[in-house]
Amino acid sequence: MDFLPEDIQRYVGSHTSEESDLLKKINRETHAHVLRSRMLSGQVQGRFLSMISKMMKPKTILEIGTYTGYSAICLAEGLQPGGKLITIDINEELEDRVRNYLKESEYDSQIDFRIGDAGKIIPILTETFDLVFIDADKENYSLYYDLVIDKLPSGGVILADNVLWSGKVVQPNPDKDTQAILEFNRKVQSDSRVEDLLLPLRDGVMMIRKR
Ligand code: SAH
Ligand code: CA
Repeated sequence: MDFLPEDIQRYVGSHTSEESDLLKKINRETHAHVLRSRMLSGQVQGRFLSMISKMMKPKTILEIGTYTGYSAICLAEGLQPGGKLITIDINEELEDRVRNYLKESEYDSQIDFRIGDAGKIIPILTETFDLVFIDADKENYSLYYDLVIDKLPSGGVILADNVLWSGKVVQPNPDKDTQAILEFNRKVQSDSRVEDLLLPLRDGVMMIRKR
């Protein structure tokens, strides 16, 4: 998933703001106790999400794919006072852990954590979203894009994670998930409603701004 040489990666990390104590704890405990812990955003990507959110000062954020809550807390750092973040995950086994972390954060009252299938939950949301982070099952990225695009105002931003998919997007014989990512990237690139930038941060972040 990491394209940069290790020493460059270390240099990047040591010249990027540190995580809060709570984020360090979530990072540490996720790696110690939760399966597939490399899915957690981590320090550099987390600071990127925080930076974008602080620059945008969104009133509403939607996150698809909570996992252990790390990225939700990073994104919430930029919310306007009174702003709100909805985050969705299908994995109920992580619910208690996530709720405890959210309670420990200063954003508990602003974060609405929903357990369920994002494909079913997003259509019933009535809010508009200034910022959306797509980071759940890769197979449904295109579906999530279609479900959220009309919920964004002009100038709204979608960030989609893992769009380089460990480099598999340029390798022959793409598997099912890779095909879905390829289709998503193509779809965004050819959509005249948006401007896009594929940022080679970590595993690739597609930045999409609605015109
Ligand atoms: N955003 C997190 C990592 C998310 S990992 C971070 O950066 O730290 C991807 C998550 O998507 C997993 O927790 C998985 O349970 C969730 N997921 C997979 N399919 C989903 C679906 N259909 N609806 C909602 N969440 C889903
Ligand atoms: Ca991810």
